Amino acid sequence: MLRDAVALKLEILSQGINFRPEFLSEYQRRSELIEKRRAYGSGDKEVLRDQRVPQEAILDGDIICALNHSPGSTWFLEFGADGPCVTNGEQQHGIRFPSTPRSYGVSLSNGVPLEKVATIYGNTTIGIFTPGHCFYFNDEQQCKFCSLGPARDLLSDHDMAISPQLAAECVTHAIASDPGRYRHVLINGGNIRDYDRGFARQVRIHTAIRELDLPPSIERHLISMPPKDFRLFESFAAAGGTLAMSLELFDREHFERLCPGKARDYGRDRFLAAFEAAVATIGRGKVYAGLVAGLEPLSAITEAIEFFGEMGAVPAVAVFHPDYGSLLVDHPRPTREFLQAVGRTMSAVYAKHSFRPFITGSGRNSLDTEAYLGGFA
Ligand code: SF4
Repeated sequence: MLRDAVALKLEILSQGINFRPEFLSEYQRRSELIEKRRAYGSGDKEVLRDQRVPQEAILDGDIICALNHSPGSTWFLEFGADGPCVTNGEQQHGIRFPSTPRSYGVSLSNGVPLEKVATIYGNTTIGIFTPGHCFYFNDEQQCKFCSLGPARDLLSDHDMAISPQLAAECVTHAIASDPGRYRHVLINGGNIRDYDRGFARQVRIHTAIRELDLPPSIERHLISMPPKDFRLFESFAAAGGTLAMSLELFDREHFERLCPGKARDYGRDRFLAAFEAAVATIGRGKVYAGLVAGLEPLSAITEAIEFFGEMGAVPAVAVFHPDYGSLLVDHPRPTREFLQAVGRTMSAVYAKHSFRPFITGSGRNSLDTEAYLGGFA
């Protein structure tokens, strides 16, 4: 059953999802089902403006799968007689959609609705994305798969900069509104030119969340560019939680070509040194190496997964999706076979080092939870 759900997730991630008009008109009416929010990217190859579209599906075994719209996909969503399903004409699988959070629409102390500050992802994660801009876009040095800039300009009403106090207030409201729903709080954001200031700011938000004294069932995570002053990892270690840093691509040529801002201003060698320093300070299994599957050869991402595993940094793999507004909107998605191979390597590395996934059970575009569970045939 798990392997069937994981196989379906790979099908959907390798093709994207398609919509028929009947599905869309029904989804407009279903205000109890969560609407896609675009805090950090468009997510879809083609964006249907001014329409409510689903953000993710919950497959059998509570496997979470992103629903990235792709008009060429053979997989369609439907509301069938027995409830929502996904079908390609030959197969049909029942699914569920996450519900609209009760906290959406709540006014915060500054008068702003909560959903402009926090986004609920993967059903169980409260995400705070700040700053909502990345300076690599200023001179077109952004990662070529990234659609943050256009998404924020055209598709999003999220706040650009969120204070630690407001982030904490949001998390408090969200948890109180939907008791028992959330398992993770995730802080993420674009980059500012001064990496040390940027990292320190993210740690202050992370620390403000820690001071809420959340139940132990709710984990805290930060995704950030590493600082240049590695001593700053000590402040994160003191705050607790897990830290992910996204190298994105392991092969040097691919990294430099597809992530020009990161390559120019930070560099691959410094990145690898930052992982070493972070693991030494924060601990093995608590630092995650963010990688994108589908933009470099299988041999390169396989080497990356094994390399970081030996180092004590957990490989966290997101599946590439061509986003409207990104420079790679016409790049093909990785095949299901490619993703199977990546997942099998991850499973072996997770088992060997007793790693746990990043945001367990909530990564809609990632393979981490599925690898941990051994879901790759
Ligand atoms: S670092 Fe790259 S992926 Fe992250 S926000 Fe900036 S451009 Fe986008």
